Amino acid sequence: MSKKYNYIIIGGGISGLHIGALLSQHGKVLILEKLSFLGGRARVSIIDGFKLDFGPHPIRFGPESALGTSLLEINKSIDFIKPGKSWAFLKNGEKMLFPTGGLVTIIRSKMVSFIETIKLLIKIRKMEPNEFYDLYDISLEDWFKKENISPRTQKFLLMTSSAMQVNPFPERSSVGELMHNIKRVLEIGSVYYPSGGWNSIFSKFIDKIRENGGEIRLNSEVEKIIVEDNICKAVEVDGDKIFSDHVISTIPVQNLFTILNENLCDKEFVEKCKELRPTAGVSIDFCLDKAISDIDGLVFFEEPLSFGFIPSNLSKEVAPKGKSLMTFLRVANVEDIKDKNKAEELYKEFRQTIINFFPEIENHILHERLIFLDMVDGVEVNINQHQFKRPGNRIKGINNLWLAGDSVGGEGAGGDIGHTSVRECCKHILERTE
Ligand SMILES: Cc1cc2nc3c(=O)[nH]c(=O)nc-3n(C[C@H](O)[C@H](O)[C@H](O)COP(=O)(O)OP(=O)(O)OC[C@H]3O[C@@H](n4cnc5c(N)ncnc54)[C@H](O)[C@@H]3O)c2cc1C
Repeated sequence: MSKKYNYIIIGGGISGLHIGALLSQHGKVLILEKLSFLGGRARVSIIDGFKLDFGPHPIRFGPESALGTSLLEINKSIDFIKPGKSWAFLKNGEKMLFPTGGLVTIIRSKMVSFIETIKLLIKIRKMEPNEFYDLYDISLEDWFKKENISPRTQKFLLMTSSAMQVNPFPERSSVGELMHNIKRVLEIGSVYYPSGGWNSIFSKFIDKIRENGGEIRLNSEVEKIIVEDNICKAVEVDGDKIFSDHVISTIPVQNLFTILNENLCDKEFVEKCKELRPTAGVSIDFCLDKAISDIDGLVFFEEPLSFGFIPSNLSKEVAPKGKSLMTFLRVANVEDIKDKNKAEELYKEFRQTIINFFPEIENHILHERLIFLDMVDGVEVNINQHQFKRPGNRIKGINNLWLAGDSVGGEGAGGDIGHTSVRECCKHILERTE
């Protein structure tokens, strides 16, 4: 027997749970997750009491982020922990304060030239949104040449692009997106970490969905989205049709046409989705029998461009008492990650860099986890697929089918995209129905 829902959400990752919690306040929600666990690419794995995020997972702008705003709106706020000082580890072996956060911290760092940086930051602060948008199609590399940016400032901006935009590639990182994000950092601060780790966020959304009578089904793979007369009516799971007023897909759009007939969509949209380039990379976690560093901010490596932090120095609960959890990410080209030999090389070089700066790690490892990721973020934020060039929440010609998640148009980079896209999507759906 089929049962009618108001909102079926495909995918139980963070975007699916986020939109599920918001929509559960307006109707009956069903979340369908194909795997036996929730969380998708933000899942938490527990190993001997260590709570490992799926690679480094700080949250840009914490309480001020789209995620933080939604948690507040549903009365399920969490504590966001503000990291301490961040550090840059340079290729000459030096360690320096990394310029991030407020203007004062940025210009206090020896990494940047005082006059040039202050001029640049004041210019960025004064810029109006349309001035950023004019720069969205311009790469960092071209802009460095055009504006005659000094090598020191180039280094700072490239390290910032690597961590904040999750894009270390100057030939395609968008200068407009980067400046827009730097302006947000200057205005509302930098990254935070959720107290207790990411499970505390999942449990808030899950609680809200359940309190409002919503359902979450695991091991439920959507095989087909059913569209009749240009209206999305249902999804098919295990050969059964489940009907709903609205269907929201939160799977990366690159995979959309495994469950939706592409002939229903215009060719340009299909190509855009299929060709969207994801962010890829290698992540390494170390579970240690003791803390070997008291750094409580982010760490940025200049070569290879990469970053990480020590979650247990921010929120003790993520490691057993007296032990320590360190996590690092090197962003890489997706083609290199798919090539086994190249990926192995990238990993070895990256691991060695971490060990060079934190040699004590080797003496205290209880567990080490390596993950090769051909998708870190659903989209690499770059000049060809910035916020305004990505697919939106709607599909032309199909009503009541919606898209959200970190591969569609949304402000920011990485996880922010998922959360801003969720809030936009929710707004559009409610405008239609209320
Ligand atoms: C190493 C790493 C580091 C990161 N660092 C950060 C960070 O610092 N800050 C940040 O905010 N973000 C970060 N991110 C990005 C963040 O994890 C993602 O943006 C986010 O998890 C994406 O969530 P999502 O729900 O949009 O997609 P997903 O997590 O991909 O969720 C999609 C879900 O749909 C399910 N699914 C797929 N097909 C079907 C189907 N046919 N039927 C039913 N279910 C289906 C999948 O199993 C999955 O659970 C990082 C990601 C990685 C991997």
